[in-house]
Amino acid sequence: MGGGRTITDPQQAAQELSRRIDRAKSVVFFGGAGVSTASGIPDFRSEDGLYHQKFKYPPETMLGHDFFMTHTEEFYDFYRNRMIALDAKPNQAHLKLAQLEEQGKLTAVVTQNIDGLHQKAGSKRVYELHGSVHRNICQKCGAVYSAEWIMGTEGVPHCEKCGGLVKPDVVLYGESLDEGTLIGAAKAIASCDMLIIGGTSLVVYPAAGLVQYFNGSDLVIVNKQPTPQDSAADLVCACDIAKAFDF
Ligand code: ZN
Repeated sequence: MGGGRTITDPQQAAQELSRRIDRAKSVVFFGGAGVSTASGIPDFRSEDGLYHQKFKYPPETMLGHDFFMTHTEEFYDFYRNRMIALDAKPNQAHLKLAQLEEQGKLTAVVTQNIDGLHQKAGSKRVYELHGSVHRNICQKCGAVYSAEWIMGTEGVPHCEKCGGLVKPDVVLYGESLDEGTLIGAAKAIASCDMLIIGGTSLVVYPAAGLVQYFNGSDLVIVNKQPTPQDSAADLVCACDIAKAFDF
């Protein structure tokens, strides 16, 4: 594999992607932040003008395990403001991927996003490497609370059943990824014959590592900006991800 061509025209990319998916036996999609930003969800790791008016610390500090433990109230202020986006809607990439799974073509979605938009679109087998804002877990009794429930609380949320501290089921800096999720993702990638990587620059751990498990015949990258893996890809679609899945 590798040495493929690059398509920049979105319509042409969609045609070529569709043709290759038709030809494939089983497809896995590996997605990053670009899949969510195409739904209008701002990347919560980025800083903008409003950010500095509201928060005293950079995102990488606020998303740390230590910060959660020591500045829990400020963490939740950030979490409610920047990480939960309840009115976001799945875009064409989410919808097409759900449809391909329904048709038996796509076996799994592996995602670095925590917004649950793949499930909202109808995807069933989703490996959420970094967890999900839709699960918030009592550290004492294990009760699970929704993102809506969190949005209805103020300050530091405590369990309704036992009073324990509720923590998002989101992987913070300094925390390790869930092993079962990682193994499931690696197995899915190892057993497909077409891997589509979308909306990620592939530099963030564990993206680059997981891609090494791919043993199939067609590696496609859909990303506006170049990635370090482009030269290994059979096809690069350097265009908007939602448009590339518009077929
Ligand atoms: Zn509890």
